[in-house]
Amino acid sequence: MKALVKQYDRPGLWLQDVPVPDIGINDVLIRVERTGICGTDVHIYQWDAWAQKTIPVPMVVGHEFVGSVVKVGSNVSDFRPGDLVSGEGHVVCGRCRNCFAGRRHYCADTKGVGVNRPGAFAEYVALPMTNVWIHDEGIDHDVAAIFDPFGNAVHTALTFPVLGEDVLITGAGPIGCMAASVVRHAGARHVVVTDVNPWRLDLAKQMGATRVVDVRNTDLADVQHELDMHEGFDVGLEMSGNPAALRQMIASMCHGGKIAMLGIPSENIAIDWNKVVFNMLTIKGVYGREMYETWYKMAVLVQSGLDLNPVITHRFHYTEFEQGFDVMMSGQSGKVILNWQQ
Ligand code: NAD
Ligand code: ZN
Repeated sequence: MKALVKQYDRPGLWLQDVPVPDIGINDVLIRVERTGICGTDVHIYQWDAWAQKTIPVPMVVGHEFVGSVVKVGSNVSDFRPGDLVSGEGHVVCGRCRNCFAGRRHYCADTKGVGVNRPGAFAEYVALPMTNVWIHDEGIDHDVAAIFDPFGNAVHTALTFPVLGEDVLITGAGPIGCMAASVVRHAGARHVVVTDVNPWRLDLAKQMGATRVVDVRNTDLADVQHELDMHEGFDVGLEMSGNPAALRQMIASMCHGGKIAMLGIPSENIAIDWNKVVFNMLTIKGVYGREMYETWYKMAVLVQSGLDLNPVITHRFHYTEFEQGFDVMMSGQSGKVILNWQQ
């Protein structure tokens, strides 16, 4: 089969012929139809310091996908050939205290699809049945392909109640934009999204931000004043990983404000702990998706009319993957889809 492989320990990915994965008795073999390019895939493509210490070479990469089941192991009874499915990209150990307690997203021995085990940028991917999610019939297949990052957005956006609240989202990348649509759908009042990239701020507006702020030339405090938000934001969703953004968020929260932090800082960030203490802020780290409460909520959000289509800005055939990565790296994209059908 064709697959995008991190074949060598240098920048790039290579389209290669590799064997179709074998499946064990508890596994499901999936014919991949469409995939989404994630920021993680870009790190692997660029071969940055994180990728160099994390990815064993060679490795088939990619973890955002939709496809259909073609074969199941002898122990698998819940999936049938033809089912339209996506995969949860975190394969957990199943044996630790958190896994046993049903808190699988807290597993400390998580393996990443397309990171630590063969991924989905391929004609076929194999996954344990515990990692397979069946979609509703009729779902848009491009939307189904991005359930993994949509899950990051939903997990973060619904960490704290947002109905009737004012929400600040720092970072209008694909995940920040999807989070804007989720909190708006879930009944937030003001949904203010910040970034330093006007192209992406436009996208955030299309996805439901009630106000977008380019923090290079607009003072967030002025915007709050204009919106009559004198006590600060109730909920903050940090989706940039940028130190200045986190500091600005901490400075803009109301007393008792709650911050869910998804953005991955590339360096240690010093923050004003006095603001955290005296303003009694909660800061919660968010990783991955809850298995499978987040997936359930995603399905329901789509069923109840949440439209993710505007965040999908580019589509390519898998043989044009280099163009897809170039667009991702340009900063002028939302989600980029690769089509794996012939
Ligand atoms: P992205 O890199 O596409 O988007 C980040 C955005 O932040 C960019 O548009 C950038 O211009 C913006 N930004 C930079 N400086 C800013 C500032 N000072 N203020 C406001 N915005 C600023 O990332 P993404 O794919 O949308 O993902 C969002 C974040 O979540 C990233 O940090 C990513 O690494 C992280 N992530 C975490 C998890 C997890 O499980 N915790 C999973 C996926 C992604
Ligand atoms: Zn575990």
